[in-house]
Amino acid sequence: MKIITDKKELQAFTKSTTKSIGFVPTMGALHEGHISLIKKARGENEIVIVSIFVNPTQFLAGEDFAKYPKKDEADKKICTLAGVDILFMPDINMIYGSDEVTIKAPNVRGFVLDGFKRPTHFDGVLQIVLKLFNLVRPTNAYFGRKDAQQVILIKQMVENLFLPINIVDCPLIRDLNGLALSSRNAYLSDSEKKEALKISASLQNATKLIVGGNMNIDEIKNVMFATLDGIKIEYIEVVSLELKQLKKVELKNTIILVAVQIGTTRLIDNLWI
Ligand code: AMP
Repeated sequence: MKIITDKKELQAFTKSTTKSIGFVPTMGALHEGHISLIKKARGENEIVIVSIFVNPTQFLAGEDFAKYPKKDEADKKICTLAGVDILFMPDINMIYGSDEVTIKAPNVRGFVLDGFKRPTHFDGVLQIVLKLFNLVRPTNAYFGRKDAQQVILIKQMVENLFLPINIVDCPLIRDLNGLALSSRNAYLSDSEKKEALKISASLQNATKLIVGGNMNIDEIKNVMFATLDGIKIEYIEVVSLELKQLKKVELKNTIILVAVQIGTTRLIDNLWI
């Protein structure tokens, strides 16, 4: 595996190759969720490129940018073992200048759900993803359904800006207890981790209703609120794949999303029906 920190070196390589490139952008502190994306990319492309870059523009003031988990050495080992060809680990100065052209998330879909609590978050996400796409020139780019709104907005950006890239959305990976894997789980104490299991339990209870034929969104939300008793809930929403409010659950066109705060840690989880 080659580690590249210089964008020009990466560009020189990606411009010169005619091989298919699978790209997995990450912020590091890699876990099985990230590894599942890398493995899928490995199976479907001749070259696999992973980036690790904690992107400042997607964090709002007061969020955890400065303390975001950093595990560079472990990440390098994980990428080597997963068969990554190039690991791109640029400095901030390599990526951003001052007074830049920026990307703006769509006015509606970019500002509901996570975008409501975190306005400008998706502007920053789209900005970095577009920059990385232009450096990497991937054939296929892999994103987790864990960040449902993110992958939907990236697909929209690719469509709206006519980018010649195939976006592959990959299943959400959980630990054995059901907790959705996230680099931010490292912030949780043991008791907070236990409390966090209520999040996946709420989605399991929603699933039970739906499997039983109950498509009523109010009833689904009520069961989830009850399961999350004692936890600070930011939102529970049931939306279509276009992030529009639904009147009732529609099979293959519904995402149930939940965002909570446990201690000082914000956690998200979801279920695609
Ligand atoms: P991050 O490093 O958190 O920015 O995530 C990088 C990529 O990994 C994004 O496409 C995420 O959606 C994906 N990802 C993170 N956690 C998971 C998970 N538990 N399951 C599947 N994909 C994930």
